[in-house]
Amino acid sequence: MSQTAIIAPKTILERLEILADAAKYDASCASSGTTKRSSAGGKGIGSTEGMGICHAYAPDGRCISLLKILLTNHCVFDCHYCINRKSSNTRRARFTPQEVVDLTLSFYRRNYIEGLFLSSGIVKSSSNTMEQLIEVARILREEHDFRGYIHLKTIPEADPELVARAGLYADRVSINVELPTVAGLTRLAPDKSATQIEGAMTSLKDSIVEAKDARKRFRNAPKFAPAGQSTQMIVGADAATDSDIVGRASTLYGSFGLRRVYYSAFSPIPDASAVLPLKRPPLMREHRLYQSDWLMRFYGYAPHEVQQAAGADGMLPLDIDPKLAWALQFRGDFPVDVNRAPRERLLRVPGLGVRAVNALIAARRQRRLHLADVGKLTVSVAKVRPFIIAEDWRPLLLTDRADLQALIAPKRSEQLELFAS
Ligand code: SF4
Repeated sequence: MSQTAIIAPKTILERLEILADAAKYDASCASSGTTKRSSAGGKGIGSTEGMGICHAYAPDGRCISLLKILLTNHCVFDCHYCINRKSSNTRRARFTPQEVVDLTLSFYRRNYIEGLFLSSGIVKSSSNTMEQLIEVARILREEHDFRGYIHLKTIPEADPELVARAGLYADRVSINVELPTVAGLTRLAPDKSATQIEGAMTSLKDSIVEAKDARKRFRNAPKFAPAGQSTQMIVGADAATDSDIVGRASTLYGSFGLRRVYYSAFSPIPDASAVLPLKRPPLMREHRLYQSDWLMRFYGYAPHEVQQAAGADGMLPLDIDPKLAWALQFRGDFPVDVNRAPRERLLRVPGLGVRAVNALIAARRQRRLHLADVGKLTVSVAKVRPFIIAEDWRPLLLTDRADLQALIAPKRSEQLELFAS
């Protein structure tokens, strides 16, 4: 008799445990910006709106409100930062497309999820893997009339026609640029090519724009990734500075019409490659990059202005937010009169968010605003005070004080505790 041990095939649950764990490193799981699909009236299954949608967050704060899994964590590529790379000694598993469909439907019916986030390691070939990802989405949409949210990670090396087909079934498609610089990508993901990644993102952008145009003219023209495309960059695995990352993100928004750029602080993985740093960057760094992203998208800051908030080493301060850092460097632009200044100048005031600015503008149509009125709209009036003029408040030479940052910034120890690595 043979002495070879017989390894029992893994159960669905065992594979789910492996493939959900393998997917947790991808941050780009937000479901914002999709169109409304409803199964009200007994038609279809699932909905991207309405009651009964479960939201859950992993202990590290990442969104897991979708069923977020890999089709397989086998991979023929060897990206150094990835636990699923071919040289990694991790447990492996794979699902068939039908198994992912069954899991999605059963989780949806139990109200655990509002949709599916599906990615995969690369097996056989990029096109073969892409075909299987699309097959999951096709079965869900065509055979089960599934109207929940589907986010497909697309594989840039796959046949462009397949990448385009993914957008016909998915709400959102994404291709990870992986690293902020081409040098970082070449060093840490030797099987990937920046040119291929950008080529695939350009095709997706063109398809999204074409589909939108077509739907303006013909109501029944097919939708294509109505929630747009997004990407993710790993922060802290290579030498790119925050200033480099801000520059790269702004190019990505401009060139590829991205809805979101996600920043994922590199986390050391078990069985890590020797070319990686041993320590993860502080999570606060990821947070500061998200804040800088908001400044560009919602507060009217040009990329070079956000970069001005960084120090000489190109890094954003960790102890204060980038908006305050910018204001401290450009004190000559303050104080701003809350009763007269245009919206874009109010948006520059540290401590005033978009909602607070909208509320101020609405309120000042009725009456002259006092400091107390502003105080009601902000978490910290101490932070706002040096930068504004109100009916009963003028900061005199407060913005000239050398110790201004110490006066208004939250205590470093308090803040860093929340985001310690
Ligand atoms: S292609 Fe690279 S990042 Fe993607 S699963 Fe394979 S090794 Fe990981």
